[in-house]
Amino acid sequence: MNLVVQKFGGTSVKDAERIFNVARIITETYQKGNNVVAVVSAQGDTTDDLIAKAEEINPNASKREMDVLLTTGEQISMSLLAMAIEKMGFPVISLTGWQAGFLSDSTHGAARIRRINKERIDHELTKRNIVIVAGFQAINRYDDLTTLGRGGSDTSAVALAAVLHADLCQIFTDVDGVYTADPRFVKTARKMDEITYDEMLELASLGAGVLHNRSVEMAKKYNVNLEVLSSLTKNPGTKIKEVVKLEKMLVRGVARDNDVVRISIVGVPDQPGFAFKIFSQLAAKKVNVDIILQSIGRDGTKDISFTVSRSHKDLAVSLMEEINDRLGGKGILCDENISKVSIVGAGMQTNPGVASKMFEALAEANINIQMISTSEIKISVLVALADSDKAVNAIHDAFDL
Ligand code: ASP
Ligand code: MG
Repeated sequence: MNLVVQKFGGTSVKDAERIFNVARIITETYQKGNNVVAVVSAQGDTTDDLIAKAEEINPNASKREMDVLLTTGEQISMSLLAMAIEKMGFPVISLTGWQAGFLSDSTHGAARIRRINKERIDHELTKRNIVIVAGFQAINRYDDLTTLGRGGSDTSAVALAAVLHADLCQIFTDVDGVYTADPRFVKTARKMDEITYDEMLELASLGAGVLHNRSVEMAKKYNVNLEVLSSLTKNPGTKIKEVVKLEKMLVRGVARDNDVVRISIVGVPDQPGFAFKIFSQLAAKKVNVDIILQSIGRDGTKDISFTVSRSHKDLAVSLMEEINDRLGGKGILCDENISKVSIVGAGMQTNPGVASKMFEALAEANINIQMISTSEIKISVLVALADSDKAVNAIHDAFDL
């Protein structure tokens, strides 16, 4: 018998009608003879609403208590969905994260799954129960509730698919697949039938917003058959796998990420070890740095710029101020009005014309590039936030995606 793990995001279960819609998808899959484990997110904006409620009471609430609160969102959807399936006359049981065996580390709010004890789920599947599991949550070794970070239900689903050796892991969302650009503002964006894990990883972490990137990392590591599709249409989705049919496509898609802040430390002494001082401090405080740019030294000084996510801005700025004072720099600059636009494609590493084509498209649209970074399968540029939409569209057109 095949096992299918199906994950339903917040919009897919936002109200009673949508819950019954999801219940139909699950029971149809079940009736075809599959075992089904469904992972759910909190309904609609529930998680945001819970965060707002907490802020009314205590803006500095401990992360532990935040996790106690936030895990309730998924518990609501899992039980309601189970009730809907019950009503349709199918055997079903809902399980919280800990009941389903999810054990994580103790990083409240961004916990990592350590292992999944699958006995309970296996047992329920042997009884031919449909199993509904609360996504996004686990317990640590002290039995305290933890959450996996915003959007973490995707990761719950893929992790389950991996340990249960599921034949397929379907991620149902409100878009019907992975597009060559965000279809909300690129009218010519096209849905892709298939994409590799690596490409998806870049697109996810670049802000394509379809999948939690840790879920894609995990899918790649454990070779989970992933599919992204809509819960609202019957259209085929996008398959994510190791190798895809060679479409002869150099560039797969254009992504943009507005969750970036650029920080510069200027006029610091041009001496060996400086970059190390800066980035080791940031690493020690777990600040993730993305693009880095160092100017060539002139008059014995240089500038170093880097980008971090908005949530790390204050911490990064205060660390840099401290370094600046200690080592005699000329000050810190911080720019929040920027956006990172990237092209992704597994085929582009061997093709020299790709970067210049991207830059040409930006030049023709009169968009200034502030920073550039490249890797094997992507090229990213930093542009002004105001130019971001225009940049994505210009690049998307230039590559005929
Ligand atoms: N409900 C959580 C969130 O909104 C987890 C998820 O949706 O995957 O971040
Ligand atoms: Mg959500």
